[in-house]
Amino acid sequence: MTERDCIFCKIVNGELDAEVVHDEEDVLAFQDINGRAPVHVLVIPKQHVANLEEIGALPDTVTKRLFEVASAVAKKLGVTENGYAVRINNGADAGQVVFHLHLHVMGGRELGMP
Ligand code: AMP
Ligand code: ZN
Repeated sequence: MTERDCIFCKIVNGELDAEVVHDEEDVLAFQDINGRAPVHVLVIPKQHVANLEEIGALPDTVTKRLFEVASAVAKKLGVTENGYAVRINNGADAGQVVFHLHLHVMGGRELGMP
């Protein structure tokens, strides 16, 4: 998939709507359209990188911010105390369907390993 067709790039550039939870210079967080937990937010770099194999293209500060924003979102949505999962589906066996790197932040129920 090219960047031009990427649905998360379209959310970043405003072509597609999303329920934004957190917006800053290089990182965006929005509600997963098909939430599978009471809290299910996606945290993405605004710069298109497909997966972890391409993460070297991101400035280190942005990579760090992805995790800091995941933590901030968890706090904002009230799941810090009970805990939450931060998951990256990377590639086919993990079920990745959107090839723009994203962190799933999930909480509000017990989340075991798959
Ligand atoms: P995956 O690539 O397996 O990590 O999953 C991609 C996630 O993106 C899924 O949980 C989808 O529900 C979610 N998703 C797909 N399209 C949208 C959209 N337009 N807005 C918000 N979330 C989306
Ligand atoms: Zn993209």
